[in-house]
Amino acid sequence: MKKLGVPSGAWAAEAGHAVHSPIDGSLIARVALEAPQQVAARIGAAHRAFLAWRQVPAPRRGELVRLFGDVLREHKAALGELVSVEAGKITQEGLGEVQEMIDICDFAVGLSRQLHGLTIASERPGHHMRETWHPLGVVGVISAFNFPVAVWAWNAALALVCGNAVVWKPSEKTPLTALACQALLGRALAAFGDAPAGLSQVVIGDRAAGEALVDDPRVPLVSATGSTRMGREVGPRVAARFGRCILELGGNNAMIVAPSADLDMAVRSILFSAVGTAGQRCTTLRRLIVHRSMRDELLARLRAAYARVRIGDPRQDNLVGPLIDRAAFNAMQEGLVQARREGGVVSGGERVCQAEFPSAYYVAPAIVEMPGQTAVVRHETFAPILYVMAYDSFDEALQLNNEVPQGLSSSIFTTDLREAEAFQSAVGSDCGIANVNIGTSGAEIGGAFGGEKETGGGRESGSDAWKGYMRRQTNTVNYSRALPLAQGIVFD
Ligand code: NAD
Repeated sequence: MKKLGVPSGAWAAEAGHAVHSPIDGSLIARVALEAPQQVAARIGAAHRAFLAWRQVPAPRRGELVRLFGDVLREHKAALGELVSVEAGKITQEGLGEVQEMIDICDFAVGLSRQLHGLTIASERPGHHMRETWHPLGVVGVISAFNFPVAVWAWNAALALVCGNAVVWKPSEKTPLTALACQALLGRALAAFGDAPAGLSQVVIGDRAAGEALVDDPRVPLVSATGSTRMGREVGPRVAARFGRCILELGGNNAMIVAPSADLDMAVRSILFSAVGTAGQRCTTLRRLIVHRSMRDELLARLRAAYARVRIGDPRQDNLVGPLIDRAAFNAMQEGLVQARREGGVVSGGERVCQAEFPSAYYVAPAIVEMPGQTAVVRHETFAPILYVMAYDSFDEALQLNNEVPQGLSSSIFTTDLREAEAFQSAVGSDCGIANVNIGTSGAEIGGAFGGEKETGGGRESGSDAWKGYMRRQTNTVNYSRALPLAQGIVFD
């Protein structure tokens, strides 16, 4: 934390909320949780900053984000290491998260010169009609433990170039990485020089702090990432005050492996998607829908690949680190019990590394052969459980892919052009992400990220997701000396 410039008073309090490392369960910090009144004061300060920031030309706002990208490059290793310590990600994935922050900064810098609207043909002579985009206000960001830094950066980089202020409430499980990000942005702000005070703020708090952000009418947009349970609470509360939401909620992602699939590629891809980040990605592969003719061979190869996966301290040369906490471990075990009750045949799933880390929760990733898409398969258990189901016809595979409440990511492994194109067509996958010959996880920054149905419908990151952070205005200008009305109405 010191290396990243976070004052020790912020995280080394004598009392307060305890932060544990999932690596070994040790206490790594204590932080003070902010009360709703403190959150309100932060929102007030952010709103004042917004009133000034919206007047700064967008390319100049981009300069702040460019500087932030530079600071992140300089501190990539230290921030990545902190992600490993606080969220339990392996070194490569901790660094990968910081790289994602750098990538979105680059994207946002370019965008700061491209926040363009439209000109539209007017039906009236001597008139111009156009569409323009304006800054929105304070953007509230609520984030989950499993992407403790990248999700905020996706939101903050776009929000800042769009002329907004940001108030961030990170997961109570990962406050340290949030404090570190804020300190690093502070360096960029110092180098920038004249940004208004209070432009970016972090609220360290639990659900009550999140609710204060959700209910405040000075926050026109709440971008909330987390469980579907959380979104079910946040969505209606923001809507009740006519605020806007970007909801990025739970996923239950499937891959179809068709008879023509390249199995070598499929196995490698399944391994990364299903066991990477110990199954704690919103895009983790949870359902494998494999053609009956290939099931036995694929399962045999997968089991062999799973047996080679190194599990342990994420800072060492391992591929799978710990689950975030005991509650996550218990939820996984309950899921496996239910799967057995519903006819599943389970391999793996047991606790490992217990002697070395008695207060942490490492598990062997589980493969569960299911007789069909039962209740447990339709539910997102945030742990490395891969349910395997067989299919006979392509239509049946598509139906299984779509027949769950969530709609985030999906993929197909096939070399049959018809299947590949049908999967990505109007009658194909109903998810926000549909990939061919690539797994479900590991999206790039350039595309819009998000999902349908209970995943919440939000879009973040690339493409035109920036429009979610601005308000749209339609302008009509009459440069003639007459006053024609639309629809040919005569009113005199
Ligand atoms: P969580 O829902 O427990 O918490 C997420 C955040 O919401 C935390 O900051 C929490 O304090 C806050 N929160 C909870 N209830 C709230 C309320 N009523 N009002 C305001 N804030 C509230 O999720 P988690 O366990 O941290 O993360 C795992 C979940 O997040 C999984 O379901 C995963 O799929 C999902 N996720 C989704 C995406 C995506 O982009 N779709 C990305 C990452 C994680």
